[in-house]
Amino acid sequence: MTIIPKSHPRLNSLLIREKLVKGFEDNLVAKEGLLAHGRGEAFDYLIGEKTSKSAKDAIKAAAFMLKNAENSVISVNGNFAALCPKEIIQLAKNTNSKIEVNLFYSSEKRKKAITKILKKSGATEIYGLNKKSSTKLLGIDSARRIVDKNGIFSANVVLVPLEDGDRTIALKKAKKKIITFDLNPLSRTAQTADITIVDNVTRAMKLLVIESQKKRKESLTYNNKKNLKLAILEIRKNLERRAKNA
Ligand code: ATP
Ligand code: MG
Repeated sequence: MTIIPKSHPRLNSLLIREKLVKGFEDNLVAKEGLLAHGRGEAFDYLIGEKTSKSAKDAIKAAAFMLKNAENSVISVNGNFAALCPKEIIQLAKNTNSKIEVNLFYSSEKRKKAITKILKKSGATEIYGLNKKSSTKLLGIDSARRIVDKNGIFSANVVLVPLEDGDRTIALKKAKKKIITFDLNPLSRTAQTADITIVDNVTRAMKLLVIESQKKRKESLTYNNKKNLKLAILEIRKNLERRAKNA
């Protein structure tokens, strides 16, 4: 473990890196997951490493959708499990959602490591582990299409953090409502989802857990396309302000 000075201006982002490196050493995170994090980090730098107004609005809409869903599933990959295992369990409890381990780069070893950390954090039932209940999504190739019949396959709302565009599009074709965390507002996932939370999953999951504890009866007016435009505008304004001061 590297020693990071507490006064470092980018302390949080370095601590997140440490978590992912530890996750990689513990077999939770794939090599490709480390690289995907790098892409996210670059966007977080542009965003200013804080939760924007558009992200807060998306979080409210996401909490409402998850709480009111008939059958919701939280899809877990290596990065998500390494970064916020406790929040995954809390969110599942608050919204009565199932948890499914679903990997882009599937391996039994990683599935086991992810299951272990989720159980350690309090998960009781985890989908996506039993080969007998697995089935395939149409429209995507190889391991990425495998989902649990009783989990993602039969869900109407799926939370897919840090997801690949092909899979998000396939899930949309299967008529699922999709909620995602994606720091890149321009990715295919961000553009395809019904609710895109343009924020670091480590900050946004904490807020989503808090939001999901609140009782909200009335529905919200939320438009993802408009919200994504706002997210892009926020980045632009932030860059212009920083360029002025440079
Ligand atoms: P797409 O396939 O949707 O077009 P992509 O190919 O650009 O996206 P992927 O590697 O498929 O990227 O998906 C990973 C996504 O996760 C990236 O868009 C990246 O910005 C985002 N990401 C990475 N780390 C985080 C994080 N900690 N919080 C939120 N988003 C993240
Ligand atoms: Mg991709």
